[in-house]
Amino acid sequence: MRTLPLALSAVVALAGCSAQPAQQASVTSLAAVQVQEQATRLIEARVPRNATLASLLRAHQVSDDIVNHFVEAAKKQFDLRRIRADRPYRLQVGLDGAIREFTYQIDADKFLKVVGGDDKAADALPDYDVQVLPYEKHKALMSIRGEISREAPSLIAAVNVAGESISLALEFARVFEGEVDFGNELQPGDSFEILFEKVVREGEFGGYGDIVAARFTTSGRSFEAFRYAIPGQKADYYDRDGRSMRRFFLKSPLKFEPRVTSGFSFRRVHPVLKTARAHRGVDYGAPSGAPVLSVASGTVTRAGWTGGGGNSVYIKHDNGYETRYLHFSKIASGLRAGMRVSQGELIGYVGSTGLSTGPHLHYELLKGGTHVNPLDEHRKLPPGQPIPSAALAAYVEHRDRQAYRFAGAPDRPLGQLARAVTASPGPVAGN
Ligand SMILES: [Zn+2]
Repeated sequence: MRTLPLALSAVVALAGCSAQPAQQASVTSLAAVQVQEQATRLIEARVPRNATLASLLRAHQVSDDIVNHFVEAAKKQFDLRRIRADRPYRLQVGLDGAIREFTYQIDADKFLKVVGGDDKAADALPDYDVQVLPYEKHKALMSIRGEISREAPSLIAAVNVAGESISLALEFARVFEGEVDFGNELQPGDSFEILFEKVVREGEFGGYGDIVAARFTTSGRSFEAFRYAIPGQKADYYDRDGRSMRRFFLKSPLKFEPRVTSGFSFRRVHPVLKTARAHRGVDYGAPSGAPVLSVASGTVTRAGWTGGGGNSVYIKHDNGYETRYLHFSKIASGLRAGMRVSQGELIGYVGSTGLSTGPHLHYELLKGGTHVNPLDEHRKLPPGQPIPSAALAAYVEHRDRQAYRFAGAPDRPLGQLARAVTASPGPVAGN
């Protein structure tokens, strides 16, 4: 109640340049809005487990006939089985018990909005206006810089200090994985700069877009990567000289430098069978459920149960290579033999199915039908293809424009994207 006089005087002041009767009108209509708002209950919460739209509304003392009518209207636009636990919703109920407005977040991109409950005909059930609407989103171009220090000894920690989260750190590591071993080679004083897109939805963080450019400096050497699309091709990362950062194989099928718990050998004691057997792949220690990616593009030749291998995926690649991924807890949904997968595509999740003592990924690489040591073979492959000379001049121009935008130039206008915000706290104190 105390805010009301304040709000009214604000309206009068704003309307100061218009004629007297108009002023009166805005004062009256604002007062009416205030009264109407006070006459509703606003509930903002998350969907409880096992709830339906109907049970959700009943829990807020909405009467059965209103609930039924509302559900009938809503399901014409939206499959109500897609109401999920823990998603936010907002419900506005009038003191007469009618639903004025209901919104429900379907996913990161869209929401269900139902407006109704006009009390002009108190005895009739109201008509509802049901819509599935996209959230208003925009991408902001951001830049951060940070440094590895004793306090922030890992890339994830240092990115965190710079105000961003683990998924940006993982993406950054992916960009440079052919060049830098972020698990073992980091030292205090190593620094990074990242120019990236941040999705803002309804004023809130809505995930990361692409890393646009990145730089990593270690022991006086700088690695740079710029995202660029050669005309007619998909965007990819290139180094300063225009060589593709992409290798034939990813460094590993897991994100962020997994630990090798058992290497490739022609003879070792099998942990389950207790007999000496060759270990024709490498085991990576990883928690159950960790996503597994195809190390190269190719065709799935097998996606299913393989006895000792449990849930397994086999993929055939160019140049006579084949990769095998064993012991999945779950194969990626919809993945089947005969399908094409691209490099870095999700194929399943770490598990311990088949002959396995605990969650890990057993990974094999075959060349011309013979098992080879994947760690050696991945390392041996040549660096990426260069940008064709016809496209090089345009690339260089693009590269220099992006490099100019690295952190440290926060107020510079940033072309087609929104303005840059520097989230950097500056260089982290080292030792
Ligand atoms: Zn193994």
